[in-house]
Amino acid sequence: MISVFGSANMDLVAYVTQAPKPGETITGRAFRTIPGGKGANQAIAAARAGGRVAFLGAVGDDAFGPGLRAALAGAGVDTSGVRTVPGPSGVAHIVVQDDGDNSIIVVPGANGALTGPSAEDAETIGRSRALLLQLELPMEAVVAAARLAGAVTGAVTGAEVILTPAPAVPLPAELLAAVGVIVPNEHEAAVLTGRDDPRDALEALLELVPEAVVTLGARGALYGSRDGVRLHEPAVPVRAVDTTAAGDTFAGALAVARTEGLGPERALRFASAAAALSVRREGASTSMPHRPDIDRLVR
Ligand code: ATP
Repeated sequence: MISVFGSANMDLVAYVTQAPKPGETITGRAFRTIPGGKGANQAIAAARAGGRVAFLGAVGDDAFGPGLRAALAGAGVDTSGVRTVPGPSGVAHIVVQDDGDNSIIVVPGANGALTGPSAEDAETIGRSRALLLQLELPMEAVVAAARLAGAVTGAVTGAEVILTPAPAVPLPAELLAAVGVIVPNEHEAAVLTGRDDPRDALEALLELVPEAVVTLGARGALYGSRDGVRLHEPAVPVRAVDTTAAGDTFAGALAVARTEGLGPERALRFASAAAALSVRREGASTSMPHRPDIDRLVR
């Protein structure tokens, strides 16, 4: 099983010719509510890629809570570890201009109420082969979850911690100590390491954690491990329509491949195929591919 301890946000997306200036009221062209948040996205991606997935997180007691739960459950994710807390759900208020530029306000809401895994979460993490983490929850909560998995690492049942360090903020040593694989994009890798060249950043990351993947968008992904393996997996050439959540699709699929015991090369190929399929379609969670489509592309 794969556990995801992370954020769930409702994306409120307004499509406009040009974003309003302070004090201005404009009429938008269209509006969509799309379930998102890096945690929920990775959970949905992993479930669609064939994993047995439990999402551990929080939604508010507002109108968005049931919609967020339903999106996860609809993808086959176990939502029994999702609590409802008083107040609003996490939302991302997104304004997309005709020229593609966007501005985003994230209000953490229920995500911000999480201080750490519950006793039930701990039990679920204990039964998992992988724990996917991102940084859209309070850092203390992320650290507590990572330590829980880290505490049993080495034992047969220990969950491997796969961390997407987004948004890129300084990482506490106690978090790094529990991470098995870190999966930043090249911008996050540069912020974390101070190295602009992704190959240099990869080497710097390997001083912090045993394995690292730096995703490079349409240029693919780099992989490195402390035992000397270095790989570059080119992206699968596709006509990109919307790259939103390509990174989350990649991370979710990578977790599935690793829990199925694939080695680094095959796991990277599987994750790249899943991510490439997701950029061919619009939307975030709505664009994530199902296992048969990924298998067809990998073969
Ligand atoms: P996002 O923030 O949109 O979720 P990201 O910046 O975290 O994405 P990227 O590095 O852009 O992550 O992309 C992750 C992976 O998705 C890449 O390593 C690659 O395998 C795949 N990918 C991204 N863009 C393309 C593309 N245009 N064509 C094919 N594959 C792509």
